[in-house]
Formats: sequence, structure tokens, C-alpha cells
Amino acid sequence: MIRDNIARILSEIPSSVVVVAAAKTRTPAEIDEAIEAGISEIGENYVQEAERAYGQIGSKVKLHMIGHLQTNKAKKAAKIFDMIQTVDTVRLASAINQACQEAGKTMPILIEVNSGEETQKAGVMPGDLLKLITEVAALPNIRISGLMTMGPLSGKPEDSRPFFRITRGLYEEVRRSGLANVGMRFLSMGMSDSYRVAIDEGANMIRLGTCIFGERSRSGEKA
Ligand SMILES: *Cc1c(COP(=O)(O)O)cnc(C)c1O
Repeated sequence: MIRDNIARILSEIPSSVVVVAAAKTRTPAEIDEAIEAGISEIGENYVQEAERAYGQIGSKVKLHMIGHLQTNKAKKAAKIFDMIQTVDTVRLASAINQACQEAGKTMPILIEVNSGEETQKAGVMPGDLLKLITEVAALPNIRISGLMTMGPLSGKPEDSRPFFRITRGLYEEVRRSGLANVGMRFLSMGMSDSYRVAIDEGANMIRLGTCIFGERSRSGEKA
């Protein structure tokens, strides 16, 4: 089933769009099946689950942090992830930078945008984005590589469109600003129900869980 889902999705989308398989709550066997079917990027929401996946897949595929990262987990995160998509404060960026300095590596990151401007939600407010990027860009062991957004959750894909459009606009604005040490290469937006709309609005990285692996069981649901 996983194999068929992936084949269908990959045949539907432009080849320039990167698929990150959101693997929260999935078993090692399910992750293996996805990789065998052509997935080369795995997304994890929790450092602990990601460590398990890292032990399983090593550097065979890329590992993305797509959940909220606590600063006290930055050290572990620096070791195992190939990209951290959820940076939204200077404090978190500094912790990642410090950990990467110690590990002797440079971490590609995306800045998470709170495109719906929802209180209590992760992501930098659109109006604060350029200031944050300017500050984070000064950190030597971090490379800003694009933007990520979730948008307000709703059942209907079309409801996400305005928020994807806002984020695309910001992406272009940052690119035009030509800030040193900032590359806008990845625009990560769209999940199982909304990835078609997201691609329509310029996403070149999508994060898919349910439509690859099937419904998450209630008991295993963590996000
Ligand atoms: C779980 C998750 C996804 C994928 O969600 P689905 O609706 O299962 O495709 C994408 N992004 C993030 C940040 C997630 O936590």
C-alpha cells in the first residue's frame, strides 16, 4: 500500500518537488518500505523518534526535523538531522549554531512562518521575518535555506491557499532582499490534504504522512 501510494504521488507531482515523508508514529518496517519505494527524505517531529530512525537509516536518506525543537535538544539534533525546518527564534537558532560549531558542521535550516498569525502557534510572525532572518544569517554554522509553514489547520485544502500565498510572497521578498548568507531554495508547505494547492502556490517541498502511510491510529497519535 505504501509503495502504491508513493508511486502514485510521485507520478502526479513535478519532479522538482521534494517529498518529505512525515514518519511520526510509523514503524521501522513502514519507513523501510517508503525508502524502497523511492522516498529519500524522512521527516520526524520528535528528537527521540528521530534518533531511532537515524539508527535505522543512517545516512542512506536525509532526516528532517519538522516538529518543534526544544533548545535543550539542539545538541542531539545537530548530530542526526540534515535539515531543521522549524527555526522561529534567534534563541533556537543560536542553540543549533552552538551545537553545530561543536560538531564541526553547518546545518541547513528553514525559518518557520506563522502565516495565519495564530496565537499559541509556532513560527515567526510575517512582520518579524526579515529581522529574524537578518539576525540568524549572522550565525556561521547555520545556513538559511528557505521557509516552512503549516497554516491554520482546517479540513478543506482551499482554506490553506491564502496562507500558502502569503508565505510564497515572503519567500520572494526575502530572495529579493539579497541578504548575505541567505539562500531561498526550499519552500516547504503542504501536507496530505493540501499538497496540490501548495504546489500550485509555489511549494517545492511537501511533507506527507497520511497519504503515504495511511491514517495514524488514535492511540499512536502524538501530533
Ligand atoms: C504530521 C505532519 C505532516 C504530515 O501530515 P499529514 O496530514 O499526515 O500528511 C506535515 N508536517 C508536519 C509538521 C507534521 O507534523
